[in-house]
Amino acid sequence: MSMTREQIRELAEFNDPKSCAVSFYFQPSTPRNKAHKEDTILIKDLAREALHQLESKGRDKDKESKTKKDSARADLDRVIRLSGELRSNGTHAKAVFACAAQNVWHEYELPATLPATQLFVDRYFHLKPMAHLLGAFPRLGVVLVDRHRARFFDLRLGQLTEREGLFQTLSRKGRSDGYAGYDGGHAQRRVDDEALHHFKAVAEVLKDSLEKGVFEKWILGCQDLHRTQLEPHLHAYVSQALLGRFPAEVGHITNDQIRTHAEQIVERWQSDRRSELIHEAVSRARSNARGVTGLRRVLRSLELAEVQTLLVGENFQAHAVECSGCGHLDAHLVSFCPACGHATQEVVDVGEAILPWVIRRDIEMFYVKDDPEFDKVGNIAALLRFRSENVQPITTALADRLSRAGAAYPGRLRRFASR
Ligand SMILES: [Zn+2]
Repeated sequence: MSMTREQIRELAEFNDPKSCAVSFYFQPSTPRNKAHKEDTILIKDLAREALHQLESKGRDKDKESKTKKDSARADLDRVIRLSGELRSNGTHAKAVFACAAQNVWHEYELPATLPATQLFVDRYFHLKPMAHLLGAFPRLGVVLVDRHRARFFDLRLGQLTEREGLFQTLSRKGRSDGYAGYDGGHAQRRVDDEALHHFKAVAEVLKDSLEKGVFEKWILGCQDLHRTQLEPHLHAYVSQALLGRFPAEVGHITNDQIRTHAEQIVERWQSDRRSELIHEAVSRARSNARGVTGLRRVLRSLELAEVQTLLVGENFQAHAVECSGCGHLDAHLVSFCPACGHATQEVVDVGEAILPWVIRRDIEMFYVKDDPEFDKVGNIAALLRFRSENVQPITTALADRLSRAGAAYPGRLRRFASR
């Protein structure tokens, strides 16, 4: 089962105050002897380690801590049982989000591009291992075309699904079936006409799909000859949304080949876009025009809902605290929330803690790898859609209102703040 944005949003909002939300990521190992066995051993080790950490944290007499351990243990056992079924050197990775205490168990297939097999037990689900698939991945369409056929695919989080096809029935005389001679010229014109209609119809479907939001960007697979016949019919914004092309025979290409071509094109596009955006964010921040750099300013902009695109260093390390009352994130290590006065908790991984904000607000996000220009500005930057002047941080007003209303941490506020 592949994920929808709605499901991702729900995962990001999930919170278990007893801290037994289990996130498990399986990245198949590369083909090797007995690789499968190694994967299973690794997963068992990770589960054992997670349990051990739970044991050492909770006090045994504490009844609540026992319930919590039981819940996490049930999920970890189930993960271990699942590991027996996971195929090594498969083309898919897997993610599991579970919380037995709240009766939650979700399994998803993901493209095999995760950083590693990992396991987390925490208050919230850890989404960072798949963040590279979420923030910067547009809804993608892949279209295969020749003179009389067109196939339309959706590509979402590594899953290729065929949506519909257009098949022009060739007139019988059009096929080279011995009607040459006297009638030949006429038949050829008819075929050309039919092809023209066909390419126009394909261009029309593309325009419609973009307008309806079926996809935001698309990729074309065809022969050069057919490309030159299709492209004159494309609407200007359909052309602009085209990420790239690859050579393809409509009837003979496999889904795996289509996916591989498409993913290479997306990767190139993302990497170009990433460097462009880094440069833009840094220069805008310098001139104080809808760009910010540095953790403190970026966090503030996130809470003010100003951020359009977020750039974070892949191994970004920083100290921050999260308010246990309103979810406010602060780069100053304050013990009490400046917005609502509740106690704060230190955040282990800021890159993880900001993800709910990113997902909730549909922010485009890129992880940046080894970029000296980016390193100089603190490895975190954002492009803003607008810049609010002299606005009180959103969390202050909301937190006041909600704490008066007796809101519990943090689901309500988090959802509230997203409006
Ligand atoms: Zn607070």
